[in-house]
Amino acid sequence: MDLKQYVTIVDNYPKEGISFKDITTIMDNGPVYKYATDQIVEYAKKVGAEIIVGPEARGFIIGCPVAYALNIGFAPVRKEGKLPRETIKVEYGLEYGKDVLTIHRDAIKPGQKVLIVDDLLATGGTVEATVKLVEELGGEVAGCAFLIELSYLDGRERLKGYDVHALMQYE
Ligand code: AMP
Repeated sequence: MDLKQYVTIVDNYPKEGISFKDITTIMDNGPVYKYATDQIVEYAKKVGAEIIVGPEARGFIIGCPVAYALNIGFAPVRKEGKLPRETIKVEYGLEYGKDVLTIHRDAIKPGQKVLIVDDLLATGGTVEATVKLVEELGGEVAGCAFLIELSYLDGRERLKGYDVHALMQYE
């Protein structure tokens, strides 16, 4: 299946010069959403994932069905103040200023093999911050999976040393 034909490109959203890749047209099509999920499930099996970790909000959309299919858990990574119990946090740089991501302190067991998933790899900042959270909890990052990779932003370089898998590339 050519997944790219189900991605809707919205130019100049959310601001001038950005080519936004809208994946809702994958999600709202049952067989296409299942196909995309199944591809990531295969990758998750290959790397031996024992738990899926995904950053809000689109990481949930991709990661939860993968966890369900494999009968393994899913741990959410969220912006500060959203998780109810004890968390650890990491600051990461945005284009303007900083943001904070958090995860529950007990979300991952030391040595557990973690697959990090998100919808799209752009600069890699979000997943790099997620990697730091996982490793601080003693998890082993088995791989990072995305529907889409924007190759021209070189997020892969930022994730050097980690196994990165994307179903689609945009040059
Ligand atoms: P980054 O931290 O730069 O890798 O950005 C990744 C996050 O920003 C992803 O979770 C995407 O949801 C979102 N994102 C960045 N660029 C785009 C884009 N061109 N189209 C859609 N989503 C994007």
